[in-house]
Amino acid sequence: MSQSVRTRPEGSGQALSEAYDTALLDLDGVVYAGGSAIAHAVESLATARAGGMHLAYVTNNALRTPDAVAGHLTELGIPTGAEDVITSAQAVARLISEQMPAGARVLVIGGEGLKVALRERGLEPVDSAEDDPAAVVQGYGGPDLTWGRFAEACYAIARGVPWYASNTDLTIPGARGIAPGNGAAVEVVRIATGADPQVAGKPLPPMHRETILRTGAERPLVVGDRLDTDIEGAFNGEVDSLLVLTGVTDAAQLLAAPPQHRPTYVDADLRGMLTGQPEVTGLDDGFRCGGWTATASSERLELDGDGEALDGLRALCAAAWTSAGEGVCELDAGKALGRLEL
Ligand SMILES: [Mg+2]
Repeated sequence: MSQSVRTRPEGSGQALSEAYDTALLDLDGVVYAGGSAIAHAVESLATARAGGMHLAYVTNNALRTPDAVAGHLTELGIPTGAEDVITSAQAVARLISEQMPAGARVLVIGGEGLKVALRERGLEPVDSAEDDPAAVVQGYGGPDLTWGRFAEACYAIARGVPWYASNTDLTIPGARGIAPGNGAAVEVVRIATGADPQVAGKPLPPMHRETILRTGAERPLVVGDRLDTDIEGAFNGEVDSLLVLTGVTDAAQLLAAPPQHRPTYVDADLRGMLTGQPEVTGLDDGFRCGGWTATASSERLELDGDGEALDGLRALCAAAWTSAGEGVCELDAGKALGRLEL
């Protein structure tokens, strides 16, 4: 819970689903990938929920409405109501509503999720720069968003209309590979106008504030797969986080994480919510977790022992993060990670 520099993953004697009242779960790479549920997600979430943990789903994707996201989760076997889905469209709509008069017209460059969120805040979505908008908002519009929409944004922004973006994720993963995300679309407009938008999505505070306001969480645990959105968002919100390795982050990236990207806990997948977390113990010359001991030499991270791969990774995190301090660990971890097959 503190902003001091984290130098190792924390232990927990209690299952995380009992130690925290609410899980703020990222979706892609955590709960599902492409169209399908990630291994162990459905059962782990059902068990956490049955034990009394409140589950909320927090997504930077502004295209789909909370209803649509909840419907998808329910189809996957994770019963979810729209009230338990928080989107960056909602966060940016609140941000706009706080800065604009009630009923203000907002030029939408994006999809249905943005329009629904704006109406919920009493704002009026419009389609053209000629509609006299008080603000421009840009969110992921899916593959059918046309180039002309960016032109529309530019016309309004050039007249001095304030510009907002739901999020700035540069990429969006899909079944066929990596596609340009809203951040890439924002760059198009930024290059053309020289302006800068106000941004709501993870890792920025408006998104975290939206999740706390909507869930009422008192002791939230952010659960995510991405260091620069989920984990940094938790860091900025000063709440604890669990990184799962089912998405975009691999072990080497975790070892090289700067302070704002270091999660409180790390586990393989969502089963990690249901268990305690092992302590990482400092030794004279290294760190121990489970059967593993990790040390940092001048050139590389070393690992001795055996046991659970995740324990070895936790010990290596402690060695890497301690040696890096407020910086980034540049020691060679290839051989150590090779022993863990991570
Ligand atoms: Mg993700």
